[in-house]
Amino acid sequence: MKKTILEIDLKALGHNFNVISSKLSSQTKFMAVVKANGYGSNSVEIAKRLEFLGVDYFAVAFVSEGVALRKSGIKTPILVLLPQVESIKEIIKYNLEPSLYSFYFLDNFIDYLSSNERKNYPCHFKINTGLNRVGFNEKETEKAISKIQSCDSIRLVSIYSHLAATDDSQESKFTLSQINLFKKISSNIKSELSYNPILHMSNTSGIYNYRECEFDMVRSGIGLYGYNNELNKELRPVHTLKSIIAQIIEAKKGDSIGYNRAFICTEKTKVGIIPLGHADGINRYFSNNGYVIVGGKKAKVIGNICMDVFMVKLNDFDVHEGDEVIIFDENNNAEDYARSVGTISYEILTNLSERIERKYIG
Ligand SMILES: *Cc1c(COP(=O)(O)O)cnc(C)c1O
Repeated sequence: MKKTILEIDLKALGHNFNVISSKLSSQTKFMAVVKANGYGSNSVEIAKRLEFLGVDYFAVAFVSEGVALRKSGIKTPILVLLPQVESIKEIIKYNLEPSLYSFYFLDNFIDYLSSNERKNYPCHFKINTGLNRVGFNEKETEKAISKIQSCDSIRLVSIYSHLAATDDSQESKFTLSQINLFKKISSNIKSELSYNPILHMSNTSGIYNYRECEFDMVRSGIGLYGYNNELNKELRPVHTLKSIIAQIIEAKKGDSIGYNRAFICTEKTKVGIIPLGHADGINRYFSNNGYVIVGGKKAKVIGNICMDVFMVKLNDFDVHEGDEVIIFDENNNAEDYARSVGTISYEILTNLSERIERKYIG
């Protein structure tokens, strides 16, 4: 019997890892970004496979995500991009490596390490070079580094920054200015230290579009899952979302479909009920807007997306209750699906809820 299922293709993941690795010089390290449950898949399964394949580092956004990886037996070093002060104890208990990105976090972290007599704890220094999200800016760096130097609690494993627009060729001047600023600030920091932290700056589209930001390590997320805007031909989507036609109903001309009567039938309409809704990550932008693939053809969404179901129009389709429908797969991928409603694959994938059963391939 068919049902709603999210297939996670671990062979495709391995393929993407190899393709992206082949673009890097052989000594460049690979950090796999597995935040947001591995971009909506399953961070543990993704991390286990990548650890087996020899990835150098993992990155997650929050401490709880790193704890989940450690509890599942992951031994590879884990960078936590956005650790919070309230979870400092867990960082140390689970041997996670925090990003140092603000004085508030840095001061609290040093206090905790000193009062527990921990020395040389591995940390990563985040510089804000223009994304203006998190990190120390050029002016703040000297003070932050002198705080780190005046205690023996912290060892900087890496210095890093994040680019704002590597997927936008119109912004190449800005991107190059970020890269140059990073070079300048990081070499100033290195000259203050008696050891040699590694540098990293690139995300997936940086790897594709700017060799200049490869440095000693890259951080790839979306590419591992098969996407990189226009250039994803050589990458393979890891996620396939399938469901079924739970029921087919006949509506008359003039009947309305679903909540708030958002769709009015202009003719006799064959309505397919798909058991997936906004609680599963099919957000309400798809109301009267999205599509699913039924027997190779697109069937349009009609009416508002409900919490657990949505409806599609099946006039001219030769289909039956219990038949399979594809939301996205290798041929109709999540980037196309996302664009049809004006968003990006990142959002579609990371919205996929825990409620959807996962099946692993390969
Ligand atoms: C999410 C994230 C990445 C991964 O970016 P992709 O575009 O998915 O490759 C890299 N670095 C940082 C700091 C991030 O937050």
